[in-house]
Amino acid sequence: MTLSFYSSKSPQSEMVSLRDAVMQGQASDGGLFIPNQIPGVPQDLIQSLSQMKDVSIVEEISAIWLSGSVPDEIARKIARDAIDFPTPLVHLRESDFILELFHGPTLAFKDYGARFMARLLSYCLHEQEGKQTILVATSGDTGSAVAAGFLGLENIRVVVLYPSGRVSQLQEKQMTTLGHNVSALEVNGSFDDCQSLAKKAFNDGELRKTCRLNSANSINIARLIAQTLYYFIAYARAFRRDLDPLFSVPTGNLGNLTAGVLAKKMGLPVHQFIAATNKNDVFVEFLASGNYLPRASEHTISNAMDVGRPSNLERLRAIYNDDRSQMKKDIVAYATTDEQTRDMMRRVCDEHGYVLDPHTAVACHGLSRWRLNTKDDERPAIVLSTAHPGKFQTEVESAIGCQIALPPALSSLENRTKRVVMMDNDFDKFKRWLLET
Ligand SMILES: *Cc1c(COP(=O)(O)O)cnc(C)c1O
Repeated sequence: MTLSFYSSKSPQSEMVSLRDAVMQGQASDGGLFIPNQIPGVPQDLIQSLSQMKDVSIVEEISAIWLSGSVPDEIARKIARDAIDFPTPLVHLRESDFILELFHGPTLAFKDYGARFMARLLSYCLHEQEGKQTILVATSGDTGSAVAAGFLGLENIRVVVLYPSGRVSQLQEKQMTTLGHNVSALEVNGSFDDCQSLAKKAFNDGELRKTCRLNSANSINIARLIAQTLYYFIAYARAFRRDLDPLFSVPTGNLGNLTAGVLAKKMGLPVHQFIAATNKNDVFVEFLASGNYLPRASEHTISNAMDVGRPSNLERLRAIYNDDRSQMKKDIVAYATTDEQTRDMMRRVCDEHGYVLDPHTAVACHGLSRWRLNTKDDERPAIVLSTAHPGKFQTEVESAIGCQIALPPALSSLENRTKRVVMMDNDFDKFKRWLLET
């Protein structure tokens, strides 16, 4: 079966191929690309997952996704090269497990999607003339994952726009010390200014044509395909076969959750998903009432989930044919306050000696709510851990009351030299720079 995609805004429109969906990112009418059919994973492969190594699992599942769109050998190589780091499942207590998704180069789960997308896109571009420019405006984490993911790839240059003085020192180092095909632009303005510069660039006909701009943001379907892979890894390592696992997912733009739902629809046995949000609880409200009320996001200590207008909701609804009662069978949603997040970090550290980052703590809290409501302590539950606690050192240390060691990937950044282009918040100057560099 070869995948094709329709736009969420016009289901009757013409289908595009996987390669076009990856190269365009978003449909020309502004909709999101939805697969016309979700590929199935054969039952005998599901049964044998537990005997397979991680690398074989990601190769097999990627080959199924890309079948007919990309030659099998290439599909496997893309998967193998993208996910060349471990995905450990840690036993926390009784039936609770943590899937550590932070062993990639930027120590956050966005490495899975960014690295896979980078390699798939680079392959899709290889038969075409000239380079593509990946333009990202970032408030911190996405920029570093995308920059690191695309580092050194042919046919692609990466331009990251970030607001001067408003990203953490570590995040800044992660974006500005890479060099090669990655340029970091330190913009004299806010994150919204960066985003508006990027938007204007995408809407500028001359730039689009000359620089062949692409966005690499979280709505690219390649990122979701990559994120289905670790659900299969988690299932393979789970310790019981008689009870389907529960997944607790720290949720912002709903990319991670949508990928889980795709994995379930491919045939992965999953009992339910917990969508765990911070106080930005638009999705919790939607699931309960059917009312979707997007609003400005509020700041929390799990700031990568400060999202008031979750961009993948449209896609999730399309996958469920907009049937909320079906969605509610698969997904339970809980919101968590900063206070509860800090309590969870402290408790898990005191009782189990395990340090959670704030996003993972939100998911642990969601799980504790589920256990309380269902009185079910047996069901194996896998909490997706989306970031290394060292990335949020100040918050984590103040919650748990002791210091944590930074992993080498973070501590070694301190000595590296920052290289940036200073950019005024001025579209004409920015455009000239893009055309001339
Ligand atoms: C992006 C991010 C999330 C949210 O994931 P979505 O796919 O947007 O729901 C959670 N935790 C961390 C650390 C992130 O960077």
